[in-house]
Amino acid sequence: MNISHLILNSYIAQALDIIGDRWSLLILREAFYGRSRFEEFIQHTGASRATLSRRLEALIDNNILQKRPQKPGASRFIYCFTERGIALAGPSLLAQQWDSKRPAAQRQRPKPKLRHSSCGHRLKPQAVCRCCGQVLEYDDVRWTVGKDQLEQQLQELRSIHQQRRVRDSGQVKADADDLIYLIGDRWTLLILILSFFGSCRYDDFSKQLNIAPSILAGRLKTMVSGGIMKRRRYQQHPPRYEYQLTNKGKSIFPFIMALRQWALERLPSDSAAPTLLHKPCGQLLEVDVVCGHCQQVPAAAEIELRGY
Ligand SMILES: [Zn+2]
Ligand SMILES: [Zn+2]
Repeated sequence: MNISHLILNSYIAQALDIIGDRWSLLILREAFYGRSRFEEFIQHTGASRATLSRRLEALIDNNILQKRPQKPGASRFIYCFTERGIALAGPSLLAQQWDSKRPAAQRQRPKPKLRHSSCGHRLKPQAVCRCCGQVLEYDDVRWTVGKDQLEQQLQELRSIHQQRRVRDSGQVKADADDLIYLIGDRWTLLILILSFFGSCRYDDFSKQLNIAPSILAGRLKTMVSGGIMKRRRYQQHPPRYEYQLTNKGKSIFPFIMALRQWALERLPSDSAAPTLLHKPCGQLLEVDVVCGHCQQVPAAAEIELRGY
């Protein structure tokens, strides 16, 4: 195992610690769709009142949402994005786009139609390199990291990992066709991130994650049946398997990178970010989410949503 595969960037971990559980992601999705009242979140996320209260509170504590009276002096409250929260529009657009590729039969709700009001075209979000403007591809990124940095990140990740273990207990519902379920499930997400950085063997995942064999096997199975990974036997006796990301699996990469960019810019951190290079231009990678038609970063107010 090459330890540098384990670049579980603390920024990604930190971002996911704040928004990466299933309920928070659902709340944020609904907030981007314009919901703002407690009852609306209940209706559209299916969360219990207690769960919803807890998650809203956590999102407020982390300065993603703010709570304010519906009108001055009113007793009803609404939940709106803060500046930090609204900056999640880019990753959120990519997540919606990923979900919208699902076959209609599998979707519980109609496909939302997005329009970029300033150029007037349908909004097809694309993650691009801020420096050269090229669309971000899975194979175009190179990581360089020092040993100290790596150890620090591993430690941070493990501690977040422990906290999430407690919080996530009892609410796993695996659905490899729904990005929210995929990344809202801690183990699936960690397996996915390890794959992005080169791990593919069962033994690697097992060692790096210190995960129970039945859980690891279950998650890999779900990812294979959902078309995120493909499994290949690389040794006959005893049988050993490796798991490789399919194109569908790789297509989650821009979302994770956009989320990392958000964390870099919006979350305080003591640790230096590991260097990430964009191979085509050789520059440090910074990611923007742009409108595929006009190549501009759409402001939140310019994103129109229809049919939802
Ligand atoms: Zn570039
Ligand atoms: Zn546009």
